[in-house]
Amino acid sequence: MKKQDLLYEGKAKKVFITDEDNKLIVSYKDDATAFNGVKKGTIQEKGVVNNKVSNYLMGILEKQGIPTHFVQEIDDRETVVKKVEIVPLEVIVRNIAAGSLSKRLGLNEGTKLNKTVLEYCYKNDELGDPMINEYHIYALSLADEKELNIISSMSFKINDILTKYFDEVDIELIDFKLEFGRTSDGTIILADEISPDTCRYWDKNTGEKLDKDRFRRDLGNVEGAYQEIYRRLLGDN
Ligand code: ADP
Ligand code: UDP
Repeated sequence: MKKQDLLYEGKAKKVFITDEDNKLIVSYKDDATAFNGVKKGTIQEKGVVNNKVSNYLMGILEKQGIPTHFVQEIDDRETVVKKVEIVPLEVIVRNIAAGSLSKRLGLNEGTKLNKTVLEYCYKNDELGDPMINEYHIYALSLADEKELNIISSMSFKINDILTKYFDEVDIELIDFKLEFGRTSDGTIILADEISPDTCRYWDKNTGEKLDKDRFRRDLGNVEGAYQEIYRRLLGDN
């Protein structure tokens, strides 16, 4: 597999085309942004942690029957993935109130939600990723009903698998964001990443935040939190 031209440079990753039509190489950067790019910074070794953690979690999901874009880790920062057409939705799954949900509904952060909440945001930087519902998704033809059913049921299943998994390493999975894509034959698979950039992880015993909120809110020890997640999931690998 040969890495070829840069296809896209995002806020956290670069995406390269390869000599294989249906494969891409993603390269994880240490760049960090928050509040739709307004806050910018660097988190040392974040790219390595996110690459390895995301690949590891996708491996666990694959074993439990969730199709993902993961193909092969090349090195610390780069991974071969199946090329997909990204469904322009950020699918947010929430178990405990935090962040924008707490603000919007006036719930203290940490309030247990009596039912898992699924939210959709329209993936559009210019508009600031506005929250939308099923009707908007169909009205804008972002996904059809069959696809959205697959996306929502996979999201709940991913939540069940990951919540149990993180519990075993003493982490409470508060909320997270997923992206899905269509392969060339139209199959919906999980894409993008699952990492401390895209999830909220709280230590089960101390409540300590071990995710990007440390960067967003200037809580200090940002690198340490990313390393701690790496260590709990992958040990000293
Ligand atoms: P952003 O675009 O939000 O700044 P990133 O820096 O993470 O985000 O860029 C990665 C881009 O690659 C995202 O737009 C994401 O939707 C896209 N992407 C992730 N996985 C795949 C894939 N398997 N095929 C095609 N595009 C992908
Ligand atoms: N999230 C993400 N990318 C986004 C927006 C949210 O990965 O563009 C993740 C975020 O890390 C958190 C969850 O989705 O785990 C819910 O985020 P929320 O809506 O509370 O947003 P925020 O508090 O970041 O505004």
